Amino acid sequence: MQQTHSGARGHNVVVVGTQWGDEGKGKVVDWLTDHAQAVVRFQGGHNAGHTLVIKGVKTALQLIPSGIMRDGVACFIGNGVVVDPTHVLAEITRLEGIGLDVRSRLRISESCPLILPFHVAVDHAREALRETSGAGKIGTTGKGIGPAYEDKVARRALRVQDLKHPERFARKLRELLDLHNVALGGYLRAKPLDYQPIYDAAMALAEQLRPMMADVGYELYKINRAGGNILFEGAQGSLLDIDHGTYPYVTSSNCVAGNAAAGSGVGPDQLHYVLGITKAYTTRVGSGPFPSELPMDEPGSVGHHLSTVGQERGTVTGRPRRCGWLDAAALKRATVINGVSGLCITKLDVLDGLPEIQVCVGYELDGRRVDILPLDADEILACRPVYDSFPGWSESTFGATRWDDLPLNARRYLERVQQFIGAPIDMVSTGPDREHTILLRHPYQA
Ligand code: GDP
Repeated sequence: MQQTHSGARGHNVVVVGTQWGDEGKGKVVDWLTDHAQAVVRFQGGHNAGHTLVIKGVKTALQLIPSGIMRDGVACFIGNGVVVDPTHVLAEITRLEGIGLDVRSRLRISESCPLILPFHVAVDHAREALRETSGAGKIGTTGKGIGPAYEDKVARRALRVQDLKHPERFARKLRELLDLHNVALGGYLRAKPLDYQPIYDAAMALAEQLRPMMADVGYELYKINRAGGNILFEGAQGSLLDIDHGTYPYVTSSNCVAGNAAAGSGVGPDQLHYVLGITKAYTTRVGSGPFPSELPMDEPGSVGHHLSTVGQERGTVTGRPRRCGWLDAAALKRATVINGVSGLCITKLDVLDGLPEIQVCVGYELDGRRVDILPLDADEILACRPVYDSFPGWSESTFGATRWDDLPLNARRYLERVQQFIGAPIDMVSTGPDREHTILLRHPYQA
C-alpha cells in the first residue's frame, strides 16, 4: 500500500473511457470493485449509462456508481456530478426493487448542483431550435445536464445542500426560474414553467435525500486514511471532455482522469493509477467528427458487423451508435490528456471472424501527416484516416481468460496498438460477464 504526503494508505484507481463513451467501463469498474471499499462518480449526470451483466443478469445504471452491485461497497456521488433529485430517487427505488440496499450505502455530495425541470425544458428547446435553424443538434441526451452545469459556472445553481433550507431554496428557485422562463418564453419559443409544482416536488424529495447528503471529500479522505481503496468511475469518454474533446460536440463536464480529484474533493496525489478503457473498435453516439467511421447499412460490411455483433445501441437513449475501426491516433490523444497508466481493451470478441482488421494510426490533413487527433473539430472533419492493416482471426476469443489462449493474430493486433500508444495493455475484456477477463497487470497492484 502507498503512503502519500497526506498520509493516505489506500490505493486509488481512476477508470476513464478513452473514446467517445460506451467503452464498457461499467463491466470493468464492477470487476475492479472487488478490490475497493468505495466507488465514486465525479462528473456527468444521469446521461451516463453503464450496463452490467452479473451471472447473466443485466442491470443498467445511470447515476449510481456501479459499486452498488457489490455488498459492503460504499458508493459516492461527488460534487462534480449534477443531480436530478427525481431521477436519483427513481433509480434508487428501481435498484431496491431488485433487492439492493442502496440508501445505507450511497452518499451524495452536498455541493452537487441540482438538475431541475426547467433545465430539461431548456435542453429540449435548444436542441429543437438548433435543428430548425439548421445549426445542427449537439445530440444531447435531453436530460438537462448541460443547462445545469451552465448554472453552476454562472454561480446561481441550486445545490443539494439548498434542499435542507426550504426558504433559501424557495428564494433561489424563484430567481432561477424567472431567468429560465424569460429564455423559454422568448427566443427558445417554448412554454415557461410554473414555480409551485417544482418547489413542491423538490421539497417532497428533500426529506428522502437528506440522510444520504454528505461531505464526500472528507469521507473519502477518512476511508483512504484507514487503508481503504477507492475506485473513481468516469462516465462518458475523454474525447467528449468539455475542454479536450471534439468541441462543441462534447459533454458538459471534464471527463478526463484529472477531474476525479476536483470532482470528488480529493487531492491529485490520491490518483495512483489511471486505467483507460478502450473498445477494440470505435463507436460514437450523436453528432461530431469521427474519422474512422464506417458505413453500417450493408449486411456483410465491417460497419454492419461491428454494429450488430457489438450490439451497439445507446444504454440511455437506445440510439444506434456510429461504428468504425479503432482509432489509435485518437487513443493517443486520450492517453496524453489522462496520463493513462494502463489500458483495458474491451469487446475484443466482437472482432472475431473478420478477415482483416484495420487500425487508424494517423491522418492526412491538408497534405500533412499527423499522428494524434487534432484539437479542432473542423480539422478532424478534414482528416483522412491512415490505416495499418492486420490479418484477422477465425477462432472465437469470447470468454477467454488467458493471454496465451488468444489467437496469434489477435495478440499481434493488441501488441501493435500498445506499441503505437506507448501505454501497456493491462487488461483485455472478451465478453460481458465479470469472468470474461484477461488480466495482465492488476491496477490495484501496479
Ligand atoms: P459503458 O457505459 O462504458 O459501461 O458502456 P456500455 O454500457 O455501452 O457497455 C458496453 C456493453 O458491452 C454492455 O452491454 C456490456 O455488457 C458489453 N460488454 C462489455 N465488455 C464486453 C466485452 O468484452 N465483450 C462483449 N461482447 N460485450 C461486452
